[in-house]
Amino acid sequence: SGSLLKVENLTKHYPLGAGFLKKPSSVVRAVEDVSFSVEAGETLCIVGESGCGKSTVARLLMRLVDPTGGRVLIDGADIAGLTKHELRAWRRRMQMVFQDPYSSLNPRLTAGQIITEPAENFERLNRKQRNALAADLLQKVGMSPEMMHRRPSEMSGGQRQRLGIARALSLKPSLIIADEAVSALDVSVQAQILNLLVDLQQQMGIALVFISHDLGVVEHIAHRVAVMYLGRIVELATCEALFAKPVHPYTEALIAAAPVPDPTRVRLEAPVEGEVPSPVNPPRGCAFHPRCPLAVERCRIEVPPLVPIADGRVVACHVRAPATYVPAAASSSLA
Ligand code: SF4
Ligand code: MG
Repeated sequence: SGSLLKVENLTKHYPLGAGFLKKPSSVVRAVEDVSFSVEAGETLCIVGESGCGKSTVARLLMRLVDPTGGRVLIDGADIAGLTKHELRAWRRRMQMVFQDPYSSLNPRLTAGQIITEPAENFERLNRKQRNALAADLLQKVGMSPEMMHRRPSEMSGGQRQRLGIARALSLKPSLIIADEAVSALDVSVQAQILNLLVDLQQQMGIALVFISHDLGVVEHIAHRVAVMYLGRIVELATCEALFAKPVHPYTEALIAAAPVPDPTRVRLEAPVEGEVPSPVNPPRGCAFHPRCPLAVERCRIEVPPLVPIADGRVVACHVRAPATYVPAAASSSLA
């Protein structure tokens, strides 16, 4: 009940435009029946290959798109039912850090203007207040206050991402959603930005939903990890448990493909044999079955349900986590 954020059976299908494929019933099944929760101050990482629906989850959380099904609850309230005023308050508590800070920062504004802009949407600041806020935010992200006069084009990639983080912090959010926030940066800069995010999160008690294809980065910062494959969560576990003993064959393959000692160097472009199938016509049954070494007949027919294993871990696999009868009352409390 006490979760800051709760996602229940979230689903997003995009209809395909006419003329792209002739079949009018075709949909992109971007997100399918996704459930998770995030506690105050917690880091939940969502990991998976590109095209698995991670970014769509982020957009659904921000209510930038509406779900096809399911719901997003903030402090128990469904964001679909929020009034304009409440949605504004929600957007204030939830901030986003993007992959490419350059394209998300207005090149015409100075750093000081960029990072104080969200606050000024909510309250009028005079020049002195604005400069004080900018200096404070820049210091929080490890930059000198003089940087407030620079423009994004006069900054390095790492500095721009610090700026993106400062901007996200400006409203003292309860939750930050970071979508591939370090993926565009050099490896050496990635570690600095990750450490900064984790430090700030701990100091300020901010919850973080960190979306990444990079398992090495995830291992470094996650409290819990949700592994997505073709729109669905296939395993969700504490970070320690997941890396110590992956249960889903896809998680196992991802981790096996990333045995690099320096966690900031891991790159998972195509860690598993075979291509990721299209979310337009995902394979029947378990979507992973065409690539899975353990697949049995049932995997081609039935979608495996997410089954609780131990320590809060859930896994969707007929072989590794066979479903047993769970009374309805008990199963409803699993998400
Ligand atoms: Fe592999 Fe079957 Fe498990 Fe899917 S359900 S991961 S195909 S064993
Ligand atoms: Mg993405």
